Amino acid sequence: MIKFENVSKQYERNGVTTQALQDINLTIQKGDIYGIIGYSGAGKSTLVRLINFLEKPTQGNVIIQNQSLNQLSNSQLRQVRRKIGMIFQHFNLLESKTVYENVAIPLVLIKKDKQAIKKKVFELLEFVGLSDKASSYPKELSGGQKQRIGIARALANDPDILLCDEATSALDPQTTQSILELIKKINDKYRITVVLITHEMHVIQQICHKVAVMEKGKIIEHGNVVDVFGHP
Ligand code: ADP
Ligand code: ADP
Repeated sequence: MIKFENVSKQYERNGVTTQALQDINLTIQKGDIYGIIGYSGAGKSTLVRLINFLEKPTQGNVIIQNQSLNQLSNSQLRQVRRKIGMIFQHFNLLESKTVYENVAIPLVLIKKDKQAIKKKVFELLEFVGLSDKASSYPKELSGGQKQRIGIARALANDPDILLCDEATSALDPQTTQSILELIKKINDKYRITVVLITHEMHVIQQICHKVAVMEKGKIIEHGNVVDVFGHP
């Protein structure tokens, strides 16, 4: 489903080279909830941007659903990317748009017709438990509600992969719990592969099947969560 083969990534900026990833080999199977944990600067976001095809590796190969990034045209890239939903630490909702409009964005972009959009948006809002907030603006919502809207938007194109980048880091423990339960439900119900980036071990222990521990651009350990971290 997601495969990294000897992937390295260097950034060049003002003559300074940063080795963000070094010789990463990683396989994430369909249906996994796969955690990537590491301190700030370990290379987690770079890894996510490679899965998303937002960055290209300097060396090696990233393969998503048997398609290698190196061999895709720009329009094929857009197709693959559409099947990857993403949620963020700070939710990234458009403040000037209603909840309805925020969730509709990915569908408007692919020019779905209005009735189909409406049906899908209300299905998604129902699924995340916020049907009554369609006309609200993000500033009227709690952090947990904003993340539910972020999740609804991420699911709009029926993705095969959900990327969660520090998705609970701005939330209190109780809200974190409910968002993690929602992510688990998405994985169970739709068999969506989840890749979850975090710096918090308890988040990994609560929902991940597998984990890779990153340090200074390398995976220093990986395996089943109970083998790597023990029981929570
Ligand atoms: P993490 O998400 O684990 O905090 P990152 O992938 O953001 O790690 O960063 C890994 C390393 O790459 C860090 O040293 C960071 O400063 C560097 N880096 C990340 N993005 C860029 C960029 N766009 N340009 C230059 N250096 C970058
Ligand atoms: P437009 O404003 O161009 O008509 P929208 O994308 O805002 O397009 O709306 C598309 C459809 O969804 C319309 O039929 C509209 O009535 C409906 N809609 C938009 N926002 C809401 C909402 N908050 N609650 C219920 N229906 C909505």
